[in-house]
Amino acid sequence: MQNTDVTIVGGGSAGLTLALLLARQQLRVVLVEKGPAPSLTDAAPDYQRVSALNMASRSLFQQLGIWPQLLAGAAAYTDMQVWEADSFAKIGFTAAEQQLEALGYICDNEHIRQLLFSQLQQCSNVQCYFDVAISQLKQGERDVMLQLDNSELILSQLLVGADGVNSFVRQQMQLPLTHWDYQHTAIVAKIRCAEPHQLTARQVFLPSGPLALLPLPDSNLCSIVWSAETNEAERLMALDDTAFVQALCAATQAVLGPVELCSQRQAFGLTMRYASRWQRGRVVLVADAAHSIHPLAGQGMNLGLMDVAALAQLIGAQQAAGEDIGANPMLRRYERWRKAEAQSMIVAMEAFKRGFTAKPPLAKLLRGLGLVATDRLPWLKQQLMAHALGLKGDLPELVKN
Ligand SMILES: Cc1cc2nc3c(=O)[nH]c(=O)nc-3n(C[C@H](O)[C@H](O)[C@H](O)COP(=O)(O)OP(=O)(O)OC[C@H]3O[C@@H](n4cnc5c(N)ncnc54)[C@H](O)[C@@H]3O)c2cc1C
Repeated sequence: MQNTDVTIVGGGSAGLTLALLLARQQLRVVLVEKGPAPSLTDAAPDYQRVSALNMASRSLFQQLGIWPQLLAGAAAYTDMQVWEADSFAKIGFTAAEQQLEALGYICDNEHIRQLLFSQLQQCSNVQCYFDVAISQLKQGERDVMLQLDNSELILSQLLVGADGVNSFVRQQMQLPLTHWDYQHTAIVAKIRCAEPHQLTARQVFLPSGPLALLPLPDSNLCSIVWSAETNEAERLMALDDTAFVQALCAATQAVLGPVELCSQRQAFGLTMRYASRWQRGRVVLVADAAHSIHPLAGQGMNLGLMDVAALAQLIGAQQAAGEDIGANPMLRRYERWRKAEAQSMIVAMEAFKRGFTAKPPLAKLLRGLGLVATDRLPWLKQQLMAHALGLKGDLPELVKN
């Protein structure tokens, strides 16, 4: 049997980041992941799955000491162009108008995990179990017991569910979930474009959903996230590569010239999930285990990283006061704090999605006028962007500049 302070279930970006934050607070941490360990070789990122990180996430990774290496494999984009197909609606943002060096950073998801894991290797107070399944999870008044299928038994004061959208921890704790199907599927792939992307993130709103072209470090490579109504996405997935590329060029008005596909296409069904309760006793949820949103504004991972920074901050305050680090009032405080942020993001994503998919001509006209007007109002643009960049809102201390 192993006694520890905190057990984290799930070794995605959120779970690994939390493990590192708590290790720095001198807590004993056990991390349990059902999949394999991130590789520690120096192989270059392959950008199969990427995320746009905002300034708040950058600050967090700076604090954790992985930023220089992450940045070396990331594309710092300085411009963003958003437009609607078949209309005059468009808006543009630049880093210069925000007085910033970049609007965000396109990073490889697995590279993030690798760098976090490599830092964790230096921490003698963290033990990681990979390729294991959980056979039992039970909580008592003073601790939580986790049994692994390798018969390891772990007792901790606090257990954190960082185990993603289908969270086992959430289900075991019977934490109720609200969900609705966005009726969208996202197709993700890597493409090579004839024209350089010039570090510009592009997003076109098509009648069936948004299509993003995210710049990668190679000046002619982009990652696409093409969200479309599910039957349309199925049609696109069924096309052969040549027909898919033709559809892609037509959808983007060949904004970057002819393109070729350089990876398999992957499809992800999109569902909004929101746990109406994030804690029970000494167990708490973070990141996608607590909420998942439409990827159209690239905010899911950023939101989850702020959850773990907030939780680590509150745990640190308990420690400093000599209090129980699994105390439920503290977990409720975390829940209230982060639920408020998650709710505003869910509402904003829904408004965006509905706003951009409304088809009546009047809605289209108003949308076009609204975007063009906003484009001419620097103050409004700055406010909109400040939220997306993670520079506004109730931020954890660690990421405040
Ligand atoms: C198409 C798409 C594009 C996106 N683009 C962006 C973007 O540009 N910017 C952004 O901020 N976000 C983006 N997101 C969202 C982002 O990918 C997620 O929010 C983020 O990866 C969630 O991290 P996580 O650690 O909570 O969950 P995950 O990455 O899902 O990690 C959960 C981990 O838990 C493990 N696990 C699950 N069950 C168990 C179990 N029973 N026992 C042990 N381990 C378990 C899993 O194996 C996994 O490793 C996008 C999402 C999609 C679908």
